[in-house]
Parts: sequence; C-alpha cells; structure tokens
Amino acid sequence: MAGMFGKIFVGIYVEIKRSDGRIHQAMVTSLHEDNESVTVEWIENGDTKGKEIDLESIFALNPDVAPDEEIPQSPETPLPPSSVAKTSKVPKVLNCWSVCSSAAAVGTTRARPSQHSQAAEPPPPAITPQPALNQALIQQQNARRKSNCVKEVEKLQEKREKRRLQQQELREKRAQEVDVNLPNYEIMCMIRDFRASLDYRPLTTNDMIEEHRICVCVRARPLNKKELTVKDLDVITIPSKDVVMVHEPKQKVDLTRYLENQTFRFDYAFDENSTNEMVYRFTAQPLVETIFERGMATCFAYGQTGSGKTHTMGGDFSGKNQDCSKGIYALSARDVFLMLKKPNYKKLDLQVFATFFEIYSGKVFDLLNRKAKLRVLEDGKQQVQVVGLQEREVKCTEDVLKLIEVGNSCRTSGQTSANAHSSRSHAVFQIILRRRGKMHGKFSLIDLAGNERGADTSSADRQTRLEGAEINKSLLALKECIRALGRNKPHTPFRASKLTQVLRDSFIGENSRTCMIATISPGMASCENTLNTLRYANRVKELTVDSAAVMESHQGGHINQLEVLEAQWGVGSSPQRDDLKLLCEQNEEEVSPQLFTFHEAVSQLVEMEEQVLEDHRVVFQESIRWLEDEKVLLEMTEEVDYDVESYATQLEQILDQKIDILTELRDKVKSFRCTLQEEEQASKQITPKRPRAL
Ligand code: ADP
Ligand code: MG
Repeated sequence: MAGMFGKIFVGIYVEIKRSDGRIHQAMVTSLHEDNESVTVEWIENGDTKGKEIDLESIFALNPDVAPDEEIPQSPETPLPPSSVAKTSKVPKVLNCWSVCSSAAAVGTTRARPSQHSQAAEPPPPAITPQPALNQALIQQQNARRKSNCVKEVEKLQEKREKRRLQQQELREKRAQEVDVNLPNYEIMCMIRDFRASLDYRPLTTNDMIEEHRICVCVRARPLNKKELTVKDLDVITIPSKDVVMVHEPKQKVDLTRYLENQTFRFDYAFDENSTNEMVYRFTAQPLVETIFERGMATCFAYGQTGSGKTHTMGGDFSGKNQDCSKGIYALSARDVFLMLKKPNYKKLDLQVFATFFEIYSGKVFDLLNRKAKLRVLEDGKQQVQVVGLQEREVKCTEDVLKLIEVGNSCRTSGQTSANAHSSRSHAVFQIILRRRGKMHGKFSLIDLAGNERGADTSSADRQTRLEGAEINKSLLALKECIRALGRNKPHTPFRASKLTQVLRDSFIGENSRTCMIATISPGMASCENTLNTLRYANRVKELTVDSAAVMESHQGGHINQLEVLEAQWGVGSSPQRDDLKLLCEQNEEEVSPQLFTFHEAVSQLVEMEEQVLEDHRVVFQESIRWLEDEKVLLEMTEEVDYDVESYATQLEQILDQKIDILTELRDKVKSFRCTLQEEEQASKQITPKRPRAL
C-alpha cells in the first residue's frame, strides 16, 4: 500500500484538470490512503482554492509521478509529455505587460505556504479486540475477516492492474502523438506550460457594458474539424476580458524553437466559449438605442475568410443547420422591435425598413432584388444615394429573418461554396427607422470581405487583382473613416472606396457610433493572418501604449511618400484621387508608392469601364434607330420617282453621324485598353509592404 502514491508527496506540484477543461498546476497538500486520493490547492484570483482528486486522474495527467512498478520505464519509451514540458525552455515573452503580472501572481502562489492546515494522514484501520465470545465463533469471524481481507487485497490488485493497463495505453497513445506531431509537439508543450502560468479572468455577463463611440473587440472561434484533423495547434489565449495573446512559433539561428507571445488589448476579447448572444451583448446591442436617438450606427465583422464573420453576423450556417436567428443581424432586429414598444419610442410612430446588398469589386448589387446592379450617386451636397435599392418594410423579427434568408440565398446562388464568393464581397444589412418617411436612424451591419484578399493585388489574374485592389482600398478607407470618427476630423477619404462612400452618412455627425468585431482563427496555420487582423483592429483604436512601439515610430526615416507621389502624378484634382492620396498618406507604412500607382490605375480603369459601357449602350440604341432610318430610306428608293438628291443627303447624314459616334467609342475603347495594360504593368511593380509590428 505504501507505493500507492508513487512519487507524490505533500508539497509537490501536479497538473490538474478543471471541470471547464482547463489544465493547470496545483500543489499537493495531503494524501488520503482510504479513498486513494489527494487534496490539491492553488491560488485563483487571489483566493486559495482546493479540491480532492482521485489518484487515477492524477496519474493520468502526470504519468511521471505514478508508481514505478506500475509503469516500467523501458529505454525506448519516450519521456512522458509532462516531463518533456518541464524540461522545455521557458517561453520567451514579448510585449508582456499582462503576462508579467500574471506570472508574478503565480510566483506568489508557489512561494506562499498553504493556508489550509495539512490533514493528518488517517491511521491504518485497527482491528478492535473482541469481547469473550466462544472460540469457534472467534475462529469463524477470523476466517471471514481474513477472507474479507484477501478479497480486499485482490480487489485492490485488480484495480491496480486495470490502472496499469490504462496508463500503458495512455503512454502508448502519447508516444504515438509525439511521433506524429514531432515538429509542433514542443510548441504545444510550451503553450500549455505558458497557459498553466496564467491567471484566467474571462469576460462574463456580469461585466459592465461600457459606452463607446468606437468599440473594437476580438472574437476567436474554436478549432474546427478540419484543423483538428490536421492536428493544428490553438495558438490563441484570451486570459482576460480585454486581452488576446498570440503564441507565434519562431526559430532561432541554431534551429531551437521558441514562442513569441504577442499581446493585444481591445475593448473586449471573446474566447472560443463565447456565444453569439454574448458577443452581441457587448457589441451591437448598445448601438440599437443609438438609432432610436436619431443616430447612425455601424457594426463590422472583420477578419480572414473562415474566421467566423458570417457566423457572428448572419448566424449558424454550418452543415444542415441554417439558423440565422442567432446572428447579430437577427438579434439586433429583435431588439429594435422590443425598443419600438417602449412608451418613449412608441409615440414617435416609427416604421422599420431593411435593406440587404453586397459590394463586389466596387459595384453594388441588391440582394433583395435578384442581385440587380445598382448605381451609387453623389449629389451636390455630398449626399450619397444607392439608386433603386429596395427598402422593405418589416413588422416583426420573423419578417427580418425571411429577408436575411432571401438575401443569403441570393448572395451565394450559383456559387460552389458560400465562402468562395463571400470572401470577395462585403455584405451590408441595414435596419432603417423612418418617421413619416423621413430617416430617423440607421443601423448598418456589415460582413466584410476576407481581409486576406486585400493581398491579391499582384495576382496574375486581372479579375482577382481588381477584387483585391478594391478590398485593400476599402479596408484601408474603412479604418481611416472610423479613426476620423473618433477624432472628429474634418475630412475623411470616404470616396476612396464604394464601401465607405455608401456608408458615408454613418461616419459623420455627433451621434454616430461604430463597433468592429475582429474575428480570428485560432490555428497555428492562420497565425500570420491573425496577426494582420489584430494589427489592423489595433490601428482602428490604439488602446495599448507600448513603449517599444512608440520608440520605433519616433525613429523617423520615412520618406514622405506623398511628395514622391506628387512628383509622379502632379497635383491631383478629382475627389477620388484626392481621397486615394489622403489614404496613402495615412497609411504610408502599408501603401508603397507602387501600390498607390496601381490603385490609381485601377480607379481609372473602373471609371473608364463604366464610361465605355454606358457609351456602348447609347451606340447600341442609336444603331437600332439608324437601321430603321436606313430601312425607310431604302424603301423610298424602290419608288419609281424617288428623290435621288434627298436620298444622298440623308444617307450622308446617317453615315456621318455613325462615323462620329463610332469613332468616339473606338477611341474610348482604345484608351480603355491602354489603361488595362497600365494596370497590368502597375500590378507587376507592387512591392508588398507589411504593416509595421506594433
Ligand atoms: P467567415 O464568414 O469569416 O468566412 P464563417 O462564419 O463562415 O467564416 O465560419 C467558418 C466556419 O467556422 C463555419 O463552419 C462556422 O460554422 C464555424 N464557426 C465560426 N465561428 C464559430 C464559433 N464561434 N463557434 C463555432 N463555430 C464557428
Ligand atoms: Mg463569410
């Protein structure tokens, strides 16, 4: 029995698993032979906590402390994972303000003596002497006791054998895992050890909902089936309500691997256990009131394709499960109808309308009207209008759900996969409040195109390039518009993209509020995209003042690219060109002069395409008229005494007109073709610039 505890003794640290799945270290404070268990203690949120855990669970998580005779240590057997973990290097920590404080807390945990008194080990079960009974009875009892005792021992042996087999199996399984995942196994251990040292305080429904004009938060989804199948590692840790950490695996020159832990702070950070309801509660829900108070609200989901934008905004569309009632679109609509019933708002007699459209390659398509292509016009007062956009009146949440379904199926119809198309287009769902026809407030909810597509600008395929250019431009412009909203800047480069042009009225005015939800994939394979997403979100609202980053930005040495561009392009005059320039100036770390040149070429190309198409349509209509005129003219010649003079004059007139119009169109097509070539050349010159690490 003495070996039952293996190498466990009071004061040793072991890994324990909590009911919520977390694994962390705890100190053994007493051993219980009677029920084969130990008491462990740890410090959490400043309080000492403890629990009793059976030996089997302890050995399963800590095979290295299991009794020796039960787990024969053959020379071929690899080290058990926890012992590998203990010998692995301490993770390297960068930007670690939160890490340091947590690590310090853990330090005190270990240094502090346990506050619980150690329970005395129970004495071995004593056999109390029996009073005077007859000898036979005593013998009989002794025999029974003995057989009970033997049975007990046998039972224990059986248990031990079972445990031994289970541990053997576990060991083999782990040994296999070690073989299969060898390249990342070490990283996995480092991340696990790192997490064990953290003090978790995730966001809960009890946390305060703060009032923000601009709210930026991050949401990490769980690893999905595909990632689990290829044994991708979860490299995201969300230790508290507003901090997200990325454990980026790095390699030194001597090939040793280490973790670079990058820390970001946002208004809120939602971990993989957060539901859409929870995300909604802190992000879009506070904006519903804004539109009742005559304001404008926007809520964006930003991130790489597959990171959970549509899941967050639209709802759960995985597999057969097509439930849009839990997306932020529907949850917002639900609350709009609830608010409408409040006495204060009821008396306003408001009507609710919804629109649903998508912006693809700088063009607007109505998702509630079979993807009709719409024109965006700006009047003299800079009021932007999407001409012909269908606004449907909605009376209840169900009406809204139906519209979302219609729009979604329209959006993805004819697509091989929902993500193939949505990765390249922005979807905008709007809830509009009107009072006697006049706009009272507007809530725009946007499922943005996958941000990784912004890098497609140097693709060999023109369509992909143009899509990429528009996405790159629109995401940069969006960021600037939000930043300008926060700083009450007079001019925002909203004309630089269709997205920001269409949403312009939401970025101006005292009563405009916005929220950005940056969605991230937790896998190691997505690490680079995830970091790009977090950097972008961080720029939208710079919350962390990191001294290292500040130093870097003060080092200077950046050539004023605007001056270079000025020299290249002369003084720009069109509003689009001005806004592009402004955008470039504001993002000089990300937009190289070559990328700017490319964007200029694309803008010109898009403008020319519109003109050529419009002119072509006019020529086409004219041609029909010419045909009719010529037919009449020819019919006239069949008459015996037709007027030859008049015939010749009329024919000449028609031909002159034709030649003029066709020549004009041909010249336009020619220069359009030149622009196409320029665009292609410009795309080849792009030197990708990555945003400066913060
Ligand atoms: P995106 O719109 O960013 O391309 P999706 O919303 O389509 O990404 O998500 C990709 C996949 O991940 C979908 O199958 C979706 O159901 C799943 N998913 C996304 N977020 C979550 C989450 N928070 N919890 C569970 N599954 C999620
Ligand atoms: Mg999507």
